[in-house]
Amino acid sequence: MNYCSECGSRVALQDRPGDRAPRYACPGCRKIFYLSPRLVVACLAIRERGVLLCRRGVQPGYGLWTLPCGFIEKGEPASRAAVREALEEAQATIELGRPYALFHIPHANQMQVVFLAELADSACAAGSETLEARLFEEAEIPWGELAFASTGVVLRQYFGDLRSGRLGFHFADIAQL
Ligand SMILES: [Zn+2]
Repeated sequence: MNYCSECGSRVALQDRPGDRAPRYACPGCRKIFYLSPRLVVACLAIRERGVLLCRRGVQPGYGLWTLPCGFIEKGEPASRAAVREALEEAQATIELGRPYALFHIPHANQMQVVFLAELADSACAAGSETLEARLFEEAEIPWGELAFASTGVVLRQYFGDLRSGRLGFHFADIAQL
């Protein structure tokens, strides 16, 4: 980062006594900027044996498949953001369920919460930032063409849980693909 969002002064990375890492600090208003992970919501939207995936029309991961996902807007409830992303990215109407997985993705500075969801019907189509949206059964999942490591992790957990007959809750720290 270059400039303070509060007063516009140029910020500098500073070592501060007693702090474990250098921080961006503003010499004008003395604000310290902690660059903590941002929260992303995703939905694992199911209809019968199919899982909804979108083929991305934007970078990162252009042309690759992902769960519908995106950043939460300031002030927006996470659950509403998940419903909105399914509609924007896959033109799909979902009934949101409970959180199913939480991932920390250090290299992207993100936390990702994945909600279970039911698709109201099998209607889905590309949205403004996607090339394609469709349902995949397990045998059809394009494992070699997933956009993010977390997508593969959560899909493997989900199909594994289905086989064991118990949908758990999963946490993982995700390394870069
Ligand atoms: Zn400032």
